[in-house]
Amino acid sequence: MRTVAILGATGSVGRQALEIVRDHPDLRLAGLAAQGSHAELVAAAREHGAGAIALADRAAAQRARSEFDGKVLGGPDGVVELVRELRADIVLNAIVGAAGLEATMAALDAGSDLALANKESLVAGGELVTAAVRRSGRLLLPVDSEHSALQQCIEGAAPESLESLVLTASGGPFRSWAQERLADVVPAQALAHPTWSMGAKITIDSATLMNKGLELIEAHHLFGVGYPRIEVVVHPHSIVHGMARFRDGALIAHLGLPDMRVPISYALTYPERAATPAPRLDLSQGFALDFEPPDLDAFRCLALARAAGEAGGTAPCALNAANEVAVAAFLAGECRFPQIADTVAAVLDRLDPEPLESVEQVLAADAAARALARDALGVAA
Ligand code: MG
Repeated sequence: MRTVAILGATGSVGRQALEIVRDHPDLRLAGLAAQGSHAELVAAAREHGAGAIALADRAAAQRARSEFDGKVLGGPDGVVELVRELRADIVLNAIVGAAGLEATMAALDAGSDLALANKESLVAGGELVTAAVRRSGRLLLPVDSEHSALQQCIEGAAPESLESLVLTASGGPFRSWAQERLADVVPAQALAHPTWSMGAKITIDSATLMNKGLELIEAHHLFGVGYPRIEVVVHPHSIVHGMARFRDGALIAHLGLPDMRVPISYALTYPERAATPAPRLDLSQGFALDFEPPDLDAFRCLALARAAGEAGGTAPCALNAANEVAVAAFLAGECRFPQIADTVAAVLDRLDPEPLESVEQVLAADAAARALARDALGVAA
């Protein structure tokens, strides 16, 4: 029996993780957390017999208390408290945004394995998180289709035999669009992702290729591979989720239909590889795999992310914070699509990266970058 805590339980990854837990007799849900969807969280806790929940929104936590007999923690610290109290065997961190870093550190400090779907933990706090993993001796299991695929490609390989990692990108809805045409893109167009159904923020990040940039930084920290040895290739059908090149010339790829239940299940049941109902790739009809290089001029966010990753320290944190502000402004109709990259570039230009030392420093760098981004965009906090 393995106890599981799911953070961000009402989001897309969280809901699918609940499905995996429901179908797996050896996984028991100990607790779950969400931002503010108290009714859904309470219903899930009841269904799974979980004894504790946390809601980051205090008012939502207050409402949950009148509906739920178990423990209800509230406020931004409630999630961290939940993780510390539960000491679950595995914590799935699917919190969206920079707030996920504190939960990541708390899970590792509490001696839990960490199934990580929160991008910002490794993007903003990479060095801190990898040091915490080494200290704790626990497992860090990526819950992103690309990183899960890469982990499976290199599993069991001697580190010195690995030549490079290849991250695949769908290219988003504007693949092969000329730079000029991108100026008039509206949110509804950017939200129509061709192959994956996800939340609004990550879908916009897929359209700008910032998502791949953030994944590049994550891959660097997860696998300890230098940036020049991580390639990005556009692969529109999202069938190949990741590849690893080895020094003997072999290129090992991970294939499957896009379905997040596969990486979620892989992480939650590692190394068992439990059965999932995910649809199987049908080879009997034949199919082609297309690859093309990313257009770094039209999709500047990818190049900006690589540069921020190479600069290291607080630079990736600033990149991510500026991007969050710009994406929110774009979704609110307050800026145009190309201004997302403009804003990120302006913020990186104005900040000198510092080496990472603490979570507080990351949060301060995050706040400073957000203020600069709002300033560059001329939007209110
Ligand atoms: Mg991904």
